Amino acid sequence: MIRPYLAFDFGGTKNACALFLQEDAHAFHLDALEKRASPPQPDAAYDYATMLELARNVLRGREPIAIGVSFGGPVRAQEGVVVLSHHVAGWENVSLRAKLENEFHARVVVDNDANVAALGETKFGAGAASRISKDRQIEIGAREDATQGKNCSSVLYVTVSTGVGGGWILNGEIYRGANELAGEIGHVVIDPNGPPCVCGRRGCVEQLACGPAIARHARERLINNPARGKILRELIQNDFSQVTALRVNQAALAGDALAREVMDAAARALGFALGNVICLMNPQRIIIGGGVSNAGEHYFEMVRAAARENVMPQLRNAVDIVPAALGDDAPLWGALALVV
Ligand SMILES: [Zn+2]
Repeated sequence: MIRPYLAFDFGGTKNACALFLQEDAHAFHLDALEKRASPPQPDAAYDYATMLELARNVLRGREPIAIGVSFGGPVRAQEGVVVLSHHVAGWENVSLRAKLENEFHARVVVDNDANVAALGETKFGAGAASRISKDRQIEIGAREDATQGKNCSSVLYVTVSTGVGGGWILNGEIYRGANELAGEIGHVVIDPNGPPCVCGRRGCVEQLACGPAIARHARERLINNPARGKILRELIQNDFSQVTALRVNQAALAGDALAREVMDAAARALGFALGNVICLMNPQRIIIGGGVSNAGEHYFEMVRAAARENVMPQLRNAVDIVPAALGDDAPLWGALALVV
């Protein structure tokens, strides 16, 4: 019997567990998947107990050959130790690898979720040369030209949701940096006089491009321009607390000019920062995930245009910025990639 691979995604607001079976040397099949949303005040003990339950459900008595773990927070990957979670109490300095090895008697690799999602998208998603499985048909199409039948070797994965984070894949492997902080694209400053950031500085790309920033900018514009934003006002029923990035984008797609300006400004801020990255690192591809990456083709065109304007002329054709292909499941596929 083929022994399965187990993948965990400790997501902070939800936990997910998947079981993968190997079909041939390069192909894997997602055999079972269980997700559970966390209660309002989860703690580490709850997360861990939930994961064991989900694992039992997907394993159904089978023993995993190896376990990959994506953790939503800083991790000392070499030691398999979670530093902390920004969302869930009790994860301070937990040796998650040792706990899981004791539990399952299998090899365990733990890494930070942005790194893991970057690896998942590179090996099985928008940076991959081939389709991943029968269940998840990924349309590669025109992208095959750029990859020439191979996975991308250098990728920056950027997640744009409640914050902006990122992870690097260089020469096919996770690049962590000297202090395991590589890829923090969210805190690249693009406007020194911009809004204050959680990191203590001003004008970080996160404060201009993430979901809550989009909602905040739209709210400010609605308040300052009482005659504008008709479609957005209808969507939120004139309740400013109901403004979200999703609704701003819906209004923009429906033709609301105010909402369109807000979305375009966010896209341009992100694209400007990515132009800096392209100048510095010349990656083969930049993959954008997270909720905001579902904003549509116009959003991506704005991101690419801003990046192109902010690179040297020789690099304009090297601007390859695409949406993620694996959605919420990127950390699970990445967790698989950690151990195969
Ligand atoms: Zn910052």
